[in-house]
Parts: sequence; structure tokens; C-alpha cells
Amino acid sequence: MGVLLAFAAVAAGAAGQSNPAPTMTLFVDESQAPRQIAFVHEEIRVRPGVVALAYPKWIPGEHGPTGPISNFDALKVHCGGVALAWRRDPDDIFTIKVDVPQGADTITVDFDTLVENTISDHQLLLAWNTAVLYPLGIDKRQLMIAPSIELPPGWKQGSSLQVVSAVGDRVNFAPLSLERLIDSPVLAGEFFRAVPLKSQWPAELDFTGDSQAAIDKADDAHAFSLFGKLVDEDQAMFGYRHWEKLHLLISQSAARNFDGLEHEDSPWNSIDDAGLSKKDVLEATAFVNLAHEQSHSWCGKYRRPAELYSKQDYQGPERTSLLWVYEGLNEYIGFLLATRSGFNDQEYLRNWLAFTAANFAHEAGRATTPLADTATEDWVLRSAHGPWSSLRRGQDYYDEGALMWLEADVLIRTESRGSKSLDDFLKSFLGQRDTGPVVEPYTRADVETALNAVWPYDWHGFIEKHVYEVNDRPPVAGFEAAGWKLVYNATPSGPLWFSVFPEVPESFEGDSIGIEVQKGGKIYDVLPGSAAYAAGLGPSMTILAVDGTAYSVDALKVAIARPQNGRISMVVRNFDSVKTVEIAYAGGLRYPHLERIPGAHDYLSEILTPRSK
Ligand SMILES: [Zn+2]
Repeated sequence: MGVLLAFAAVAAGAAGQSNPAPTMTLFVDESQAPRQIAFVHEEIRVRPGVVALAYPKWIPGEHGPTGPISNFDALKVHCGGVALAWRRDPDDIFTIKVDVPQGADTITVDFDTLVENTISDHQLLLAWNTAVLYPLGIDKRQLMIAPSIELPPGWKQGSSLQVVSAVGDRVNFAPLSLERLIDSPVLAGEFFRAVPLKSQWPAELDFTGDSQAAIDKADDAHAFSLFGKLVDEDQAMFGYRHWEKLHLLISQSAARNFDGLEHEDSPWNSIDDAGLSKKDVLEATAFVNLAHEQSHSWCGKYRRPAELYSKQDYQGPERTSLLWVYEGLNEYIGFLLATRSGFNDQEYLRNWLAFTAANFAHEAGRATTPLADTATEDWVLRSAHGPWSSLRRGQDYYDEGALMWLEADVLIRTESRGSKSLDDFLKSFLGQRDTGPVVEPYTRADVETALNAVWPYDWHGFIEKHVYEVNDRPPVAGFEAAGWKLVYNATPSGPLWFSVFPEVPESFEGDSIGIEVQKGGKIYDVLPGSAAYAAGLGPSMTILAVDGTAYSVDALKVAIARPQNGRISMVVRNFDSVKTVEIAYAGGLRYPHLERIPGAHDYLSEILTPRSK
């Protein structure tokens, strides 16, 4: 049967015409956003016959088939006022087919997007991929769309889209390609403000909040100054940019307090209610989130793995094995930029590096599973949490990737006697030259070639060892070369940025007896090879008593710090059974830290020092 690949080509423009006429319109009625529903209306030019329409499946930045198809509903298709029956492709539930009658050249499509784009009753983020059906098989760079949005009454919006007109609460944007549209979310809110940053490059902070106070107090923690410095540190690091003006979109809400997604010129982050006015919120979110999402403009958007940009539309599948560059290198870049621009101090970052390296050091899964595999199955690991995580491994390509890039940075600095650093690679590989928002794909070989151009070395062997081979050694060589070593002592690690999440353990005793414990004594995880594992403990058991005392975090710590005769006694409940276990352990409390190696050159502090003038 012939599925017409349906689509009339984009209207042929005169040679050199850069903005061909739109071939579809897209109107998203977000006026009911506080009720968590949006209404979509499209007019699409088609040819008669079977037309296949696609709901975006592989979402840029999410690195997987995560398009929220379950929230795409109430579909109606019309042609000349007559309803057309539609059917879903049983082989691909993201594809919808309709029979377009002879003589017709346009269909209208209406559907609802449920839940997806509401942040709170005062804010929304329209991610256009949740609100578009497009002709299957088109080239996302060629399909031109005229988009518009209806906002709730009186709300304002910020985005990198160009506003051509506004009537009441409806905003009409200039036509652009499907690819640029999906890369240009709209942040809107009842309480909204746009603040130009005092940076060398043109940039502005567009932000929302759940109250007027959250807007008015936004600079109490000097947020505007920090973001201005961040953009200046971008400039010092990359040298060139791939946008005209950067819109940093930030929503502040307790309802969605930690999230973010990269975009070429409008990265979005969500932080806690009134977070811009809180130093601890900025500190905890910058190195993993605020600095990270915006540096993806260079690492991930402009330069992107070719295997992750292999399809002309969004239906995939794409390959993700190079995420140790896209995310791992960008994680390292985020560490550098957040610290260099002053969101956090060096000690804060060192605590994180020590914590994450210690986690990898006792991760049993390293003995069987190379780092690259965590990238290859990234979107599965994204939704997998909880028991036996050290055997499954997690999205280790982020932070273990970052530790590898630290080692590469120090290697270049050491071998070149300080004349070169990874910053040279970042400028040549990710900065390159000023461009518009285009994608320059790369392969692993391109990465190795670019590293070699900065400093000749066996980079293929280096990457092979760290990423592609099973590697059960703790990834601490970078620290030691940088003048620091991973040590364990009884002083708790510093504040952990993810401690706000409800499921997160409140007691990390992985480096002593080998357990992590949630509120109420529920064991979150047990590390194979640890004393707790040997004693028969398992995830989801609840500790009722420790050494004859009812469970509390303090009672647990006292027992670990001073075990009687080298043994800790625990009463634990597992489903309906209760038992007593004896843990053989005499090592005391152990928490990871970085400690200076006396006499060694301190490269780490140099790496974290500001570059901008
Ligand atoms: Zn990222």
C-alpha cells in the first residue's frame, strides 16, 4: 500500500531566499494552562492520498523516545469542513494516518495536549514538541511553520522567537523551521520579567515566579551579576557563539523545583520558589543545571554526535553512545563555568567531585559494564532508580565522563608544562567560529583528532581505556595528577545538591558499612561487597533498631562510629518478617573528601579560576 511521503515540498523560493513561505500553521491555545490542558490547531498543506502525520518521538536533549504520546489526545482531522477518519499505525504508535480526498490541498488538525506544559497555576513552559503533528518524513530543517500562542489573560512570555504581532493575549511569531521551533520553547507567566545582562555578549534573563515577590526579589543573591559573569566566562572559554542573543529562561516554583533542558539560544531551567534570590539555591543548581544547560549551546547543540543527529525528523531511532562527550564533557564544562563565574566556591565543587568519585569507586557494576554502555542505554537508565543501582550503574556518562575530562585537562596541562589546557580544545572544537544556530556533527574520531591538534597524545587509547573497556579502577587519576587525593574521614561531606528530592537517602553510609538509608530507616540501597551485604541486608528493608536503640540517623551513626567488639546489631523488617542481623565492621564513619597532596602542583585550583576580564 503506498504511504505517500506525503508532503509537497516547501514552497520553492527564489534563489537565496532564506525564509520560504510556511507550509503549516500551528496555534497553541494555552489560555487554560492552570487547568493543565492546551488546545492545538494546525493547518497543514498536503497532497491527496494517504497522509502520515508524526508526533515527535525522539526529543532533542532528552536523548530517547520520550515524546509524551500518552498526553496527546482528542484528535480531530478535517478537510474542507468535513471530518476525516484517522487511524494509528500499529507498528509505530507515534504515527497517525488519514486519507485525504482528491482535490484537497489542506487539512486542519486539532488535538489536546494534557498536563505537559503547566509549571504551576502562574507559569507555563510551552515545549513545542508536545504540541505538534507534522508530516512524517519531512526534513525538520526545511518544514516552515507559522506558530502562535494564546496566553492566559494578562500573562507575558519570553523566548528566542521573533514576535510579529500580538492581539489581546495571542502572540504571533515569525515563521521558522520545525527544528528551530522545537528548539525555542516559550516561558510565560502571570509574574514575568526580562532583564538584560551586563555581559560582553548580548544576553537576557527571562524569568517567571509564583508571586510578585519572587520577581521583585530576584536579585537579592546577586543573580543578575552571576549570570552576566557566566556569559562572560562562556566567551572566555569558547571564544565564539552560535546565536545572536541568548535568552536564559528560568522558572521559579516549588511545584517544579529542579529541571532543565538545553536549547541553542534559549536554555530553560526551573529552580525553587524565589530561587534567584537565594544563594543556596543558585549554588546548588548552577554546576549541574544553570551553567550546564546553557553551555550545551556549544556542547550538544552546535556540536552534536553525528549518530545522534542521523534522522531528518524526530521519529528516530538515534544512537546515544557518544553521550560521554555530549553530556560528560558538558558536565565538566558546567563544573568549570559555575565555579569560575562564582555561583559556588571551589570547596563546594571539590566536595561534589569527592562524593561522586567515591560512588563510582564502590560501584560493583564497573567490573562488568563499560562506561560507554551507560550512554548507549541512556534513556532506559534515566527512568531506572532504586535498588541495586551499583550493579545496574546509572547515567555515569555524566559524572564519570566529567572525571575523565578532568584527567584529560590535567594531562594536557602537565605534558605541555602549562602552555595548553582543555580550554584550547573547547575553543577549537566547540567554539570554532561565529555561526547562526546550526548543527556541526562529529564522530569519536573527530574528537580524537581535535584533541591531538591541541596536544599530541594517544587519545584513542586514553578514551578506549576510560570509556569503552571494562574498568573497575576508581576514576581518581585526574585528582591525583591535579594535586589532590580522595580520602575518607568521619567528617560528613558537604551539602549535596540533590538532597531536596523526597526519595533521596538522608544517610549515606556506603563508604563504611555499605548502605544508604531513607527517612524512617528504609534502606535505599546496599552495596555488594560491603559488610552490610555480607550480613544479608537488602534494599527496602526497614531498620527498626540499631544496637538495642530505636532507629534514628544519630543512633545509626553512633553504632557505626563505635561498634561494640567490631559488630553492629540491627533489627530489620522485610515485608512481614522481622529479623536480627549482625554486621561485622570496625572501620568507623567514612565520608569522602579531596585533600591536597603536599608539594604537588595544584592544577585543580588553576582550572577553577575565572578566565574573563
Ligand atoms: Zn545535559
